[in-house]
Amino acid sequence: MDNKYQYLQLGIQFGELVKATLGPKGMNKLVMHQSGPILTNDGATIIKNLKIDNPIGTMFRNLAESQEKAVGDGTTTSVLICAQLLENAINLLDKGMHRINIIKGYEMARHAAINYLDTTNTKPDKEQVMRTTFGSKISPKISDHLTKLILKANPENLRIYKQDNKDPMKSELINGFAFSGYTINDRVPNEATGRVAVLDLTTNMENAKMSVQTSEELEKVNKTFRRFKKSIVDKLQELDVKILFYTDTNPELESYLADAGIFSVVNYKRDELDNVCKATGATSISDPDIIDERHIGYAKAVYERDSRTIFVTDKRSKLKTLILKGSTKQVLDETERAVDDVLGVLRNLGPVVPGAGATEISLSLLLKKHAPKIGGKEQLAIEKFAEALEIIPLQLAKNCGLDATKILAGLKTLHEKGENVMGVDEIYEVSNALDRGVVEPIHLKKHAINSATDVANLILKLDDIYRGQDESE
Ligand code: ADP
Ligand code: MG
Repeated sequence: MDNKYQYLQLGIQFGELVKATLGPKGMNKLVMHQSGPILTNDGATIIKNLKIDNPIGTMFRNLAESQEKAVGDGTTTSVLICAQLLENAINLLDKGMHRINIIKGYEMARHAAINYLDTTNTKPDKEQVMRTTFGSKISPKISDHLTKLILKANPENLRIYKQDNKDPMKSELINGFAFSGYTINDRVPNEATGRVAVLDLTTNMENAKMSVQTSEELEKVNKTFRRFKKSIVDKLQELDVKILFYTDTNPELESYLADAGIFSVVNYKRDELDNVCKATGATSISDPDIIDERHIGYAKAVYERDSRTIFVTDKRSKLKTLILKGSTKQVLDETERAVDDVLGVLRNLGPVVPGAGATEISLSLLLKKHAPKIGGKEQLAIEKFAEALEIIPLQLAKNCGLDATKILAGLKTLHEKGENVMGVDEIYEVSNALDRGVVEPIHLKKHAINSATDVANLILKLDDIYRGQDESE
């Protein structure tokens, strides 16, 4: 191998790739994916959709995905810190330090940083955290609107339905569920209110069909099915069902249903049917011989023809659905990712720390003070770890078009004087992040620092990569 830093440099490239997207003034990237272009500012989305063909890339993808899964936000931060740890490690290697000592120093620094975060403890203000998370991804006007809508829902019971070609400010929250679908028959009205049944006969029918051997037998079964279908519709009418969701496209059943004037929607997607049940209070019916009162729910169902959407609403619905509107599919997908980030953060909302780079500066100063107490070779590595954290305020300032070096120096001076909530401000250069409501969950920072350190140390430990044997070899 000609380059002894090859793996470290591969990792550093991932930092280069996402650094311009960090923060409120971050730029978007266009990832050309085989399923169509993806316009995004989200670190995890960029890395997830890249064509990656080396193990270092896979490690970075896992890093972004683990942050995304565990926290829902902070992916760019973790990637940037990891890349910077690698870059600073090269500097130490050049000075003749052994990888083992770097890893040891990085471990010590990580523990000191996490311990410090554990002692800070500011109560979260939901709205502020949500705004910071929405931060760079969507405009303040739209993020305000969505924040208000999301605050009215329980994140666990919130579904999202996207509609493009619509005004984002018209996004709304409904008591119920919406999905893409259509009613079976034009004879059925576009709207109905009343009792609901959900019929899922797929497994039942398939089992019956499998046991048929001869054509006479098949004819007999078909006849039974016909009678059986008529009897299902009779039964539904007896129970005064006005709205039906079911899993079988069959012209005869459809015509019976249309005759009966039942608002009927065919749907094969189990999770959507589950959500319909939650929205209406109905219980899915798998055996048509037992359809009774216990299975019946209640709702208003609307078929919106132009967008081919079915809305199912009721004030008692256990679900709410955010109808997310936007101009184009790409913009809408990015908005959905931002909403997902916000929901992820809300699910796990603990104490918060100031954002805008303030916490990274506090940690960095703390570690620099801590390093001499350790001494030895590790001291240098701890100092380099401390410097690596500065990438966050530095890059935030750069992305705001500010004189980043000057701002970083200014922030350090302020923090030294005890003003440890001062961070980068796109307008006033530096300001009190807490006062501005720029806050992030501690849990996010801890996870970002932990996973960044894990991956950096893993790459540092990597001596050489051997290609596994291909099956053809
Ligand atoms: P990540 O994927 O790491 O969440 P983002 O692009 O969302 O990356 O940027 C997050 C960073 O931007 C955090 O350090 C956060 O504190 C900072 N940030 C968010 N809003 C602001 C703001 N209004 N002013 C300054 N910094 C902000
Ligand atoms: Mg973010």
